Amino acid sequence: MPTEIEWYVGHPKFFIKGQLYEREEVLPKMQEILRLNPLCIALAEEVHSFLGNVLILSTWQEQDESTLVTYGSKYPENIHITLGLNSDRIVESLSHELLHAQLLKQGFPRLDAKVAIPYEDFYFPLLNMVQHELMIFPYQELGLNPLAFLAPKQPVDERIILNHLSRDEVTTIASLIQWYGDMQYQNLAGDATQSAWLEDHWWRVEQRFPGITNKANEVVDWIDRGEYQDPTTFETTFNELVSIMGLPPIDMGKDFWFDVVRGPSGAVRRWR
Ligand SMILES: [Zn+2]
Repeated sequence: MPTEIEWYVGHPKFFIKGQLYEREEVLPKMQEILRLNPLCIALAEEVHSFLGNVLILSTWQEQDESTLVTYGSKYPENIHITLGLNSDRIVESLSHELLHAQLLKQGFPRLDAKVAIPYEDFYFPLLNMVQHELMIFPYQELGLNPLAFLAPKQPVDERIILNHLSRDEVTTIASLIQWYGDMQYQNLAGDATQSAWLEDHWWRVEQRFPGITNKANEVVDWIDRGEYQDPTTFETTFNELVSIMGLPPIDMGKDFWFDVVRGPSGAVRRWR
């Protein structure tokens, strides 16, 4: 039987209830959710046999989003899929998170979610977006709808962009990350509403951060080179992107505030 758990979400509801599946409960629950998609079941079985009891699953009746939390503060020993059930893309979300987990098996590193790091608001989405580049083809091979690969987003309100640009602490990095995320959403989800603000407001961004268009082009070149597809050189390659963004490089194996998991040989290893 799954365990009843609560999640603090803040005002106005404060707590929502979920169900936690652990150990021998995890795989049958995933098989049940994915029962109409044999290829997705095979993916779940592969990830489960790789991670074993490290993998846990929680389901949330009221949530629409899903995540993969790698050694988070709540379950520091676990790789945790949180699955929102208030969604019409439950199979797609679970498969999406399983594909993130499968990258561990392929040897790609992932950031430890419980370690507070400088600029973590930038590294986490950036790594997530790069992982999405790696996941989109395997996702399509599962026979799932490409438009449901990512959760639907609300279009960016132009007031948010203008407000954002008027804030002193906003940096080029924040704008570049926003741009990359929105362009990727457009490309992967086939939905241009998220990036529609670029048409009207990119010139303001360029005015605020001269040279940002060149940096955006460098990001496109970095993606086109495709070197991020090799797990053995991923750290170096990812740091090239990090450097284009204007962030300090990260030493995934050594920096004490970074703890990354890799699974090159079938075992999940933790770096300290
Ligand atoms: Zn994702």
